[in-house]
Amino acid sequence: MRILVTGGCGFIGSALVLHLVEDCGHDVAMLDALTYAANPASLAPLAANPRHRMIEADICNLATVNTAFAEFLPQAVMHLAAESHVDRSITEPGAFIRTNVVGTQVMLDAARSHYEGLSGADREQFRFLHVSTDEVYGSLPPDGFFTEESRYDPRSPYSASKAASDHLARAWHETYGLPVLVTNCSNNYGPRQFPEKLIPLMILNALEGKALPVYGDGLNERDWIHVEDHARGLVAVLERGRIGETYLLGGRAVRNNLAVVKALCAAFDRLRPEAGPHQRLISFVTDRPGHDRRYAIDPSKAEAELGWAPTKVFETALEETIAWYLANEAWWRPIREGRYTGERLGLAKAA
Ligand code: NAD
Repeated sequence: MRILVTGGCGFIGSALVLHLVEDCGHDVAMLDALTYAANPASLAPLAANPRHRMIEADICNLATVNTAFAEFLPQAVMHLAAESHVDRSITEPGAFIRTNVVGTQVMLDAARSHYEGLSGADREQFRFLHVSTDEVYGSLPPDGFFTEESRYDPRSPYSASKAASDHLARAWHETYGLPVLVTNCSNNYGPRQFPEKLIPLMILNALEGKALPVYGDGLNERDWIHVEDHARGLVAVLERGRIGETYLLGGRAVRNNLAVVKALCAAFDRLRPEAGPHQRLISFVTDRPGHDRRYAIDPSKAEAELGWAPTKVFETALEETIAWYLANEAWWRPIREGRYTGERLGLAKAA
């Protein structure tokens, strides 16, 4: 299949592209603006593989996006491009509205024109998979879980912009008959994640003997899914999901932030005992404004309908993730030192 993946140079996008090309044998075109969050080095394993190509483009530019559709003739679209960091959305919400809302509308419009020109088997199999987050549902009470029926209650500029994009995707299905699928996923972790997010930030700080800043009391809970489990889940939804449906993907690994950082310290103590104990580096900092207390996914629908399930054990895969960062300094060092920002279109500023 020819699959157009937006945001393919980002954290989840690159894991997905690697899976689509190497494990599934699909042809992939990545459409990516190469903002600060992109790292083309993540796709180095595909350097010699002709099954993928890069289209450097902004999803907000309809003419460029239309050209990408016309030249690549995708049989499916997996839409991941987004501004994705909650803290940045608090200081710079405009970039989030632009890319996440306007950019999604442009992608849906381009996909609709393309779909309307298809016939026969190509029209039958075409899908637009919109990739989103569980943050659109807001904060849960203790022991609660999100399901596909949970009410939308976004509380940060990031989650509000993603909620808007989810509604647009469903509206293009209802109004124009575009064969849309929506996924909402929990917090991802794994190799090649930009080191502004909790786990890679903590890994690199621990490695350099710096403070491990934990927001508030550290008891905010998140469900953690390994990025490879997420990538497999997205392919399962694309292949077997029912058109117009939403699927929640999660890792069945709810942990509070402090427990995550303590697990990370314990793994570091095993990997680098000479630098331990690492828990002494934990430092509590002022909480993020509007910090949601608990997100947790009930992925039963995806598991029952798609034959998919998360496979990774959080503490084991966390240690593997740390080992990946230890072995791949060439990937993160330029970002850490501010030498690489990927900021070609000026869509977002690096911290
Ligand atoms: P990321 O920030 O690592 O990557 C985003 C990618 O999108 C980058 O390659 C960037 O260059 C590209 N991009 C940004 N603006 C663009 C634009 N205007 N035009 C074209 N490309 C643009 O993000 P991620 O963590 O890989 O998340 C991918 C998707 O998954 C997002 O839609 C996000 O909302 C969703 N999601 C993420 C998580 C998570 O834990 N990271 C959880 C659930 C859902």
